Amino acid sequence: MIKKVIAEARKIVIKIGSNTLAKADGKINPDFMAELASQCADLMARGKQIVLVSSGAQVAGLSTLDRWARKKDIHYRQALCAIGQVELMDNWRNAFGSVGIHIGQLLLTKEDFLDDQRTLNMRNTIFTLVDEGVVPIINENDSVSYDEIKIGDNDNLSAHTAILWSADLLILLSDIDGVYDKNPKEFPDARLIGEVPDLESLRNTITIGSTNGFGTGGIATKLEAAEKVTSYGIPMLLANGGRPRFLEALAGGTQEGTVFLARA
Ligand code: ADP
Repeated sequence: MIKKVIAEARKIVIKIGSNTLAKADGKINPDFMAELASQCADLMARGKQIVLVSSGAQVAGLSTLDRWARKKDIHYRQALCAIGQVELMDNWRNAFGSVGIHIGQLLLTKEDFLDDQRTLNMRNTIFTLVDEGVVPIINENDSVSYDEIKIGDNDNLSAHTAILWSADLLILLSDIDGVYDKNPKEFPDARLIGEVPDLESLRNTITIGSTNGFGTGGIATKLEAAEKVTSYGIPMLLANGGRPRFLEALAGGTQEGTVFLARA
């Protein structure tokens, strides 16, 4: 099923979680970024179009200014994101630059998705970038957002993006192989769920454990994202971005993951 959804998709949104972007020491992971960029280049050479949603501004900020690690004040957090976003995009530009691909940045807030004119402009910008072979990289504009007006997590942001761009597939890359019946980090006997035809019955069968590391949303926001895109006829794949040549392996049917089947 994973092989089939990737084969059938031309327009793919890929979301990268903070845990995937960061190494164990909390620093940003340029090897992962290079690996992703070269696999995106391969997919694009085969006619696919890619939009990325990248978390990691805080992680990148802390990699640059680790003396701010203990500052919890909101102004410092937002300032850290302003610093980290530049660092993050600098790393993405290096990664994609080495495979000859340009990138473009879109920083969005919840309000952008509520305003018709802004939505139209975002859509046109994304279409133009992609048509020109540029990879748009989207993140929430954390330096201007505050809790009440935030989308709050990039799982939901990537779902909004997939719907806005009329994508054929949303791929969420995380540090686990997919959704399990219980938290695999706590329970070694947790069972991977390969296919989800019905979110409601999934919710009744699994236990959602806590999020660790730098993650913000955990499995709950991944299920919200699945709810959104599958109701628009877009399937979603949750997979592990920590495995070697993960996109190739997923496309070749040799890596496991969880596919949420499109409903409409
Ligand atoms: P990311 O930063 O990649 O978006 P998160 O850390 O927010 O990822 O969420 C993924 C984490 O959710 C996993 O590392 C895992 O420990 C945790 N988790 C809790 N319950 C489950 C479950 N039932 N199935 C899979 N993962 C789970």
